[in-house]
Amino acid sequence: MKIICIGRNYLAHIKELDNDLPKEPMFFMKPETALLPAGEPFPYPDFSKEVHYETELVLHICKSGRNIAESQAFEYYDALTVGIDFTARDLQSQCKAKGHPWEIAKAFDYSAPMGSFKKISALKNPSDISFGMKLNGEWKQQGHSRDMIFSFDRIISHVSCFVTLQEGDLVFTGTPQGVGEVHVGDVLELFLEGEMVFGLEVV
Ligand code: ZN
Repeated sequence: MKIICIGRNYLAHIKELDNDLPKEPMFFMKPETALLPAGEPFPYPDFSKEVHYETELVLHICKSGRNIAESQAFEYYDALTVGIDFTARDLQSQCKAKGHPWEIAKAFDYSAPMGSFKKISALKNPSDISFGMKLNGEWKQQGHSRDMIFSFDRIISHVSCFVTLQEGDLVFTGTPQGVGEVHVGDVLELFLEGEMVFGLEVV
């Protein structure tokens, strides 16, 4: 399986990082080794001094496909959760400055923890899914899927033009504003439609 991550999908987050508005979805990937077993703490990597959280809705791909039409894309994902796209922001800034790929900043081990999946059909409000993250008990990020620049369907269609999607793949759909640093000892709590889906300690 593979993990596909969309960058720059919420306007307010693009502004906070001073990035340009994309004309089409931009994506990168994390390997399977970026998964963190449920209940495990997140080990702060020793190669970074500035690890950021990015709280994102994550789609579960339920059917393989390529060149998927936007109008058919809904058939290819069936469940969703909230996850963290951990980012070594210091390394990412260095990579961007040199024009290098970002993998060392994004694809490292355990950089993609997430909660258990909920069927899309069981969501209270599938057309505007709310999600968020509390850091040490304080709200840091709160997002709504209606604020995405590119919809789930557009993302699935676009990515599948380049990379075949396979059953079991996961898609991080971008972070809203409010990204920031984590430190050893922090506790993150992730919420989907007002309910806590998982907690995570940084060690
Ligand atoms: Zn992200």
